[in-house]
Amino acid sequence: MAKSKLIVQKYGGSSVANAVRIEKVAQRIISCAKRGNRVVVVVSAMGDTTDDLISLARQINSHPSEREMDMLMSTGEQISCSLLAMAIDKRKVPAISFTGPQVGIITDTYHTQAKILKIETERIKKELTRGKIVIVAGFQGLSTALEITTLGRGGSDLSAVAMAVALGADLCEIYTDVEGIYTADPRIVKNARKLSYITFDEMLELASRGAQVMHTRAVEVAKKFNIPLSVRSSFSKKEGTIIMENPSLIEEPVVRGVALADNEAKITICNLPDRPGIAARMFKELACKNINIDMIVQNVSHKRNTDISFTVLKKDLAKTLKISRQIATKIGAGVVLCDETIAKVSVVGVGMRSHSGVAARCFSVLAKNKINIEMISTSEISISCVLKKSSGKKALKALHKAFNLGLEK
Ligand code: ADP
Ligand code: ASP
Ligand code: MG
Repeated sequence: MAKSKLIVQKYGGSSVANAVRIEKVAQRIISCAKRGNRVVVVVSAMGDTTDDLISLARQINSHPSEREMDMLMSTGEQISCSLLAMAIDKRKVPAISFTGPQVGIITDTYHTQAKILKIETERIKKELTRGKIVIVAGFQGLSTALEITTLGRGGSDLSAVAMAVALGADLCEIYTDVEGIYTADPRIVKNARKLSYITFDEMLELASRGAQVMHTRAVEVAKKFNIPLSVRSSFSKKEGTIIMENPSLIEEPVVRGVALADNEAKITICNLPDRPGIAARMFKELACKNINIDMIVQNVSHKRNTDISFTVLKKDLAKTLKISRQIATKIGAGVVLCDETIAKVSVVGVGMRSHSGVAARCFSVLAKNKINIEMISTSEISISCVLKKSSGKKALKALHKAFNLGLEK
């Protein structure tokens, strides 16, 4: 007899937003199991639960410790996984729910953005052998210091991919509230086109540049272990998008998709002494505090002084400003300014490796739309521009149109 397939399915917050949705998801999981598959499910917190928990914390303490935030946020997923197990159980199919720590998802000690170090799979395997559907709370783990940690916002995708790697799953499905990966966020660009496949590299660029549909580190892990991901809707039966290694088509489209991020802020340190070692000192201190810097631009030196601007996630802004101001004082720099009203648009495609002219086209599209570019960064397969937040959606739509990414209307 052929060995049954092991399938890891992940359901996002909107897929389990209320009791009705949980029942629907339970039915989908059961029909997968009834087809002879062994099923491990990773589930996010219901709807906006995580946001609600964060705002509740802020009402009580404007600067809660990251440890207590992890204690709080991890409860969201515990609710949804137990309810889902109850919904499956009610249908006379055996299921059992677990928190991340219970199934040995071991992480480092960085609260609110922990990295998974390993997953001890014995407990899950034992329950699968007993014929149970295993439901695991996403987004969380147990640190090497025996504390509950979370993996960063959207981190249930990462829990699912890491679980698929650890169990050697045959398939990893990411169920969400859109039918797959589109050429742009379909909620902003109405004629965005669903892609039948996208490469790991392109998805990584889109995710890290604002396409929240996939968590960046989840794509990184899938790429590292070459686990194709099927992204599809929990609201329909339609085929989704496969994220995979480059299928080596003869010709790649130059641009696969566009993304918009408005969760970053720009910091400018004015009048820095223009001599070796200053940038190193600045960015080393920020790196020590685990702050990720995105774009960096240094201006032409003027009278041996220069300005440096860089972008960080808004969630790290307060911490970054505090450190930047301390260093600026120490090294004799001028004021530190901050702008939260920026957005970043990006154009992504592996075909850019072998095509020129994409940057020129981007800039002329933005110019035609009278949109001013404040910062630019490029990689082999992407171009990103920072602009005023108020122009973000207009820029995204204009670029999507200029590169003919949409469906004919
Ligand atoms: P989940 O709760 O299932 O994890 P998310 O809200 O994290 O879902 O991600 C799904 C959302 O990602 C979609 O509703 C969509 O608005 C957004 N999104 C942004 N860019 C894209 C894209 N290129 N393709 C599909 N969805 C996208
Ligand atoms: N519930 C967590 C969040 O909202 C994790 C996730 O949904 O993936 O970020
Ligand atoms: Mg998500």
